[in-house]
Amino acid sequence: MRLAVIDYDLCRPTKCSLECIRFCPVNRAGTTAIETSEEVKGKPVIYEETCIGCGICVRKCPFQAISVVNLPEELEERVVHRYGPNAFKLYGLPILRRGQVLGIIGKNGTGKTTILRVLAGELRPNLGVVDREVEWDEVLDHFRGTEIHDYLSRIADGSLRVAHKIQYVELVPRYLKGTVGELLSKADERGVAKDLKDLLELGEVWDRDIRTVSGGELQRLLIAAALSKNADAYFFDEPSSYLDVRMRMRVAKTIRSLAPKEAYVVVVEHDLAMLDYLSDNVAVVYGDPGVYGIVSKPYGVRAGINHFLEGYLPAENMRIRSTPIKFHAREPVQTGLPEETYLKWGRLRVSLDGFHLEVEAGEVRRGEVIGIVGPNGIGKTTFIRVLAGELEAEEEEIRRPELKISYKPQYLSPDYFGDKTVEEVLREASPQALASGSWLNVELVRKLRLHRYLDRKAANLSGGELQKLAIAQTLSREADIYLLDEPSAYLDVEERLAVATVIRRIIEGRRAAAFVVEHDVSIQDFISDRLMVFRGTPGVEGYATRPLGLREGMNLFLKDLGITFRRDQQSGRPRVNKEGSYLDRLQKAKGEYYYVGD
Ligand code: ADP
Ligand code: ADP
Ligand code: SF4
Ligand code: SF4
Repeated sequence: MRLAVIDYDLCRPTKCSLECIRFCPVNRAGTTAIETSEEVKGKPVIYEETCIGCGICVRKCPFQAISVVNLPEELEERVVHRYGPNAFKLYGLPILRRGQVLGIIGKNGTGKTTILRVLAGELRPNLGVVDREVEWDEVLDHFRGTEIHDYLSRIADGSLRVAHKIQYVELVPRYLKGTVGELLSKADERGVAKDLKDLLELGEVWDRDIRTVSGGELQRLLIAAALSKNADAYFFDEPSSYLDVRMRMRVAKTIRSLAPKEAYVVVVEHDLAMLDYLSDNVAVVYGDPGVYGIVSKPYGVRAGINHFLEGYLPAENMRIRSTPIKFHAREPVQTGLPEETYLKWGRLRVSLDGFHLEVEAGEVRRGEVIGIVGPNGIGKTTFIRVLAGELEAEEEEIRRPELKISYKPQYLSPDYFGDKTVEEVLREASPQALASGSWLNVELVRKLRLHRYLDRKAANLSGGELQKLAIAQTLSREADIYLLDEPSAYLDVEERLAVATVIRRIIEGRRAAAFVVEHDVSIQDFISDRLMVFRGTPGVEGYATRPLGLREGMNLFLKDLGITFRRDQQSGRPRVNKEGSYLDRLQKAKGEYYYVGD
């Protein structure tokens, strides 16, 4: 069976002399497989019935606008939704069980949000039929006899109430007005606003207008608002973005404890430790981003995440990635790199009005990635600005050459890049980023799929695309120190690992150093040579350690949080122990909060 998808945002027929149509062998033989159509403003449409799937148009298109894939015939029985002719197609829906949390994991662009919108009743599935309206009766007939039928029939008759926390929280202040307290009290149908205020620590921002709160505070407010609804089903699309490790665990616990016992709960999440901690079962969504997505059977949480990392789904007998993703199970040893001190500082003290930061004396070697952990507002950025010479420290004793810093802040407003296009931003950062075949282009720009929309204005990008552009810009620049504040927000697991790998290569290649603020423990574990731990009271005082070994740093950090991690034997990934479990108690007794085998 043929699936032909055209990305009409990328297709520019005025710039390509319609090569896709001219070279199609079916067209040349006198039948039409591809032709322009007025319905899509003179751009091409592909007829899947006549197209033979040769892929010539795909290769001829200079803008990578076309995808043609051959899929097994049986899959067609599982089609749930198609956004239009030659548009993305979703196959299958996950099986939901009352009282259980279902985690969904998969690449960006494979339909996870589409699944949530269908399950939330926000999008009526059309079963892939795009030339007429498909009514609920037909949809329910199609699903008769399947496990999802009863659920969908209640969505169809409006008797199933749904609370949905959307992905891009920063869009919300555009259409909601009021203070945090007012909004949560208004949303509260279960009388749990007070509990949520305490559990998610919203007290301090209770009287603040939502236009003035940070991304992390907004995230907590919206999670709280969803949980306070009296609903049968609760959906959380990427609840971890902008939250620090402690708050991620708190959110996970709050969702588990406060969602009604008989409710359906679905969470889309890329932070493996959080997904693992939060879910009972996991469904993997796989496919070709922007083209199609297929939902797997539900797996137990450990097996599901491991199959995803392994790249093979046994129940489906399906390989979803050619190579497995592995985490290193031992403390990394510095190999080959000379232990040349790059940057050295004595004890630092910085006072900004109302905020005080103290940093232990320390040093960074060339080629090192220093992970930074700690809550928001604790002085991480302040420290880097001192290193960069932008801020004065008291009793300053820093040995540094003239340092060039390349920095990606945590939050990016839509006007972060002004009026520039993606291409302009990248070209200014480094022409290498655009040179096809250069490793920056291959490993960074293409891996993050930024090459697909070079002429788009940065201001029109989605939150995830903006994040990727800022990362690519920061890493493309020549600098001595790279500072990335939460590079993984909105990125999927593979993108996070691609970024981590590029950071490593760049700082080794340029013999520079990087500081990476990262709240995804699996990624921090993957990327850091050493770790600085920031503690204290956010907004008031911060204390930072010198760069510590990964094990020592994680131990110190996790001890404060009272969380222990073990290591999954199969994948090497860190897993959170359930509080009070045998391993949790054992590791706490030994003082080993991290790094113990499964
Ligand atoms: P994910 O949440 O896994 O990133 P989505 O469900 O958001 O994926 O989107 C899957 C694909 O469907 C994307 O390629 C997206 O561009 C496409 N898509 C989403 N909404 C629409 C729409 N309204 N019309 C056409 N295509 C859409
Ligand atoms: P982090 O990077 O850990 O989120 P920051 O270093 O940005 O934290 O900020 C730490 C604290 O210092 C915050 O309370 C912030 O409001 C305050 N702060 C940062 N820069 C300034 C400044 N220039 N003047 C006054 N206060 C500042
Ligand atoms: Fe024509 Fe081949 Fe493209 Fe199908 S895949 S439209 S047959 S060129
Ligand atoms: Fe040109 Fe590609 Fe669009 Fe075909 S799909 S009209 S080759 S831009």
